[in-house]
Amino acid sequence: VPVAAEPAAGPAGHVTLVGGGPGAGELLTVAAVAALRDADVVFYDRLAPHQDLPSLTTAELVDVGKTPGHHKVSQAGIEELMVNAAQAGANVVRLKGGDPYVFGRGGEEVAACVRAGLPVRVISGVTSAVSVPAAAGIPVTHREVSRLFTVVSGHAPLTEDEHRHLTGLGGTIVVLMGIGTLHQLAAGLRRAGMRADMPVAVIERGYQPGQRTTIAALGGITAAAAGCGNPAVLVIGEVVRVAEANRGCDAAAAELDRLAASLVGA
Ligand code: SAH
Repeated sequence: VPVAAEPAAGPAGHVTLVGGGPGAGELLTVAAVAALRDADVVFYDRLAPHQDLPSLTTAELVDVGKTPGHHKVSQAGIEELMVNAAQAGANVVRLKGGDPYVFGRGGEEVAACVRAGLPVRVISGVTSAVSVPAAAGIPVTHREVSRLFTVVSGHAPLTEDEHRHLTGLGGTIVVLMGIGTLHQLAAGLRRAGMRADMPVAVIERGYQPGQRTTIAALGGITAAAAGCGNPAVLVIGEVVRVAEANRGCDAAAAELDRLAASLVGA
């Protein structure tokens, strides 16, 4: 179905927002695979597992991906494309990285469909907030180490209040989109009283070739992560030390050796 088609006289199509997981085809859900198989057109993001799409669907594939600061198609433009295609009768899949409702603007896209009177549903995905730390052997909670985790967007610097609240919570802090503001975050958490020896992990390109984990104490993370780039998930908390115990089931053994060495005596 051509994306720019006029609304057909026949029945309208519908829209399915699909969470594609952190980028590994194997972490697509069964529901995601079924939705892709049945789609006429798929609008996908840069962080969605799009390399696998040709083997999963015969749908028309449209790249609406963004790299930070370079919006290929504006959010309004994406919503218009989706709505127009569904009004033309297409079965539309909007494939997003991770989970559609975790910093994915899924709520806005659902609202656009509802405004247009189109049936819409959401298929949850495996969020990078949990799965990318796991790829580095880091559990976001661990008995007697952390009983809560907070997921924060680092897209813009946090406020002093937020630094204070996060430090006061005492659990795991997971930051998405946090590479650009890492130095502000580290400094802010220190000002709020977080210990300089709190371990921090930066996991770049989870589940992708070139996945890399950088671990340092909070006081030294800005220097240690100077060469790190997007996409990356940051984990701040004692759970980073637990990765050490999980080395047997993880590929990040070399980094974990460094962790053990750098945190001894910390
Ligand atoms: N909805 C997505 C998050 C979108 S925000 C989810 O639930 O995962 C985009 C951010 O997600 C990136 O800046 C990065 O912080 C994180 N991210 C997504 N996929 C990633 C991956 N494979 N490796 C590392 N970080 C990833």
